[in-house]
Amino acid sequence: MRAFNFCAGPAALPTEVLQRAASELADYQNTGISIMEMSHRGRLFQAVLASAKKNLRQLMAIPDDYDILFMQGGATSQFSLVPMNLLSGAGQAAYITTGMWSKKALSHASKLGNVVEYASTLDTQFTSVPSPEEALVNGQYDYLHYTPNETIGGVRFPYTPETNVPLVADFSSSILSEPIDVSKFGLIYAGAQKNIGPAGLVVVIVKRDLLQRSPTELADVWSYRSVSDANSMVNTPPTYSIYLANLVFEWLLEQGGVAAMAAINQRKAAALYHAIDSSSFYSNPVTLPARSLMNIPFTLADAALNDVFLAEAESAGLHSLAGHRSVGGMRASIYNAVPESAVTALVDFMAQFERRYG
Ligand code: PMP
Repeated sequence: MRAFNFCAGPAALPTEVLQRAASELADYQNTGISIMEMSHRGRLFQAVLASAKKNLRQLMAIPDDYDILFMQGGATSQFSLVPMNLLSGAGQAAYITTGMWSKKALSHASKLGNVVEYASTLDTQFTSVPSPEEALVNGQYDYLHYTPNETIGGVRFPYTPETNVPLVADFSSSILSEPIDVSKFGLIYAGAQKNIGPAGLVVVIVKRDLLQRSPTELADVWSYRSVSDANSMVNTPPTYSIYLANLVFEWLLEQGGVAAMAAINQRKAAALYHAIDSSSFYSNPVTLPARSLMNIPFTLADAALNDVFLAEAESAGLHSLAGHRSVGGMRASIYNAVPESAVTALVDFMAQFERRYG
């Protein structure tokens, strides 16, 4: 019996993926040992790694002049690794801030070099994104960093910023949720624990010509160039996380790929926003064009009911609906692995809760 899991991360994984992993947990392909007990340099794990790269390349239509890196340290490590690797030309970078995660990326980078907060929506309490004109960056920067989906605020860029410098994006909470044109980016990174697989893995998609920027004195495990040269095996990679990510990639391909997921994600988000907007009992503060398809925060007109709402939701099999500890309220994260039936169940629960307490 699986509950409906709205956790922001580590988040729901497809039931089929968990069942497949369980079925081959102790004996991988009749070897009598688990994939997580095998050498990362052996034939079987090498095949998993190659398959993960191939499947992700297919899912996101990643051009050949980009490499895919599997790294560790969470998306947070990338807040520092991006400037450590890329800030070696003009010596300065531009950041757009639209919420807590882009603010963190900026603050980590500012310890390592000269960074400019080029545009920000702090004046709207991070309930919007800048206009394409405000986000247009043409200048002497090594890169422009932004966060296409803010996981806490539930704010999404409905467009890709235009710029003449390499575009770096933290796609942690929206990778694989809708098609993107990878060729517009210099570097994409995403912590795995939302739309990819278990925590412990970070996926980096980097344009090969940027690899030359990694300073030679940088430790190999943190150097994009060294990690690329070593095919993500400078040292022992998180083998089980990569194996599970590959099962998720295979599952996504079976569902029809990212375009098919995007259509489902649009329907899920529309149903939940409709439930929120058509009632004065619930509200979401984000401006319409900037509303996230993945993370939907909402509040109750009477905040004193929050704990009752969360407890009753949990009893009804709707898990992890509490908002981020920094903002409170509720948040439903509806990543790829959260089925439409979960959103239907949530919407029904919300209507019924409002009838009883509204
Ligand atoms: N960026 C975004 C957009 C996130 O949502 C998160 C985690 N929720 C992070 C970065 C940090 O990820 P990690 O905990 O893997 O370092």
